Amino acid sequence: MRKPIIAGNWKMYKTATEAKQFVEEVNGLVPDSEKLDAVICAPAIFLAQLVVSAENSPLQIGAQTMSEEDEGAFTGEISPVQLTDIGVKYVIIGHSERRQYFNETDESANKKVKAAFNHGLIPILCVGETLEQRENGETGAVVEAQVEQGISGLTEEQITQLVIAYEPIWAIGTGKTATAEDANEVCGIVRKKVAALYHDEAAEKLRIQYGGSVKPATIDELMGMEHIDGALVGGASLEAGSFVKLLEAGS
Ligand code: PEP
Repeated sequence: MRKPIIAGNWKMYKTATEAKQFVEEVNGLVPDSEKLDAVICAPAIFLAQLVVSAENSPLQIGAQTMSEEDEGAFTGEISPVQLTDIGVKYVIIGHSERRQYFNETDESANKKVKAAFNHGLIPILCVGETLEQRENGETGAVVEAQVEQGISGLTEEQITQLVIAYEPIWAIGTGKTATAEDANEVCGIVRKKVAALYHDEAAEKLRIQYGGSVKPATIDELMGMEHIDGALVGGASLEAGSFVKLLEAGS
């Protein structure tokens, strides 16, 4: 049985004060970590503060990106060493917004995934097709290639700890959700690809999230699907009540 994982991606929203209030509101309402992994991926500027705010709750804190380097003259970057040092547990890698606006690629995602594992962070590797690719029938091939390059060189043990988020780009922040069947089909393609690259046992343990306009009203159906083990959620993770509803559906 794969443990569900619901992760909020706050992107560049909230002030430190709002973030603290959010965590105080949800702290007592987060399901036990044996049932579900609940994660908030927050802006880097208040990660350290949120780790402290969530100390007595099962809520875990994640970053939204990081450098693949341990340290050095990389102005503005944040390293995996720095993230683990303050108690961050997860990191989103290769989100489509990072690929679109910050030139991230499958190659850089792969370096970051490896760097995350090297420092005890759990990477959430994002993959997904554009609308044009979907309309051209290329979804499977695009996602398979992103998975193959993104996980290249990982050990079998790392595959079983990895989280992959299937996020069709056309569904992110648009209000358009893939149908549960379509999302499940692509998550199944991801699992099959990992099985082909490693083997069935590792692929069965891999957790795959769906992301793209997930809301409390849509999560139940998604979570009922064979290959969907959780959700990566932007907009609907920003409000405490809505985030808690997502956690309840996931657990
Ligand atoms: C995301 O940021 O990864 C995301 C899926 O956003 P939204 O839920 O707002 O579509």
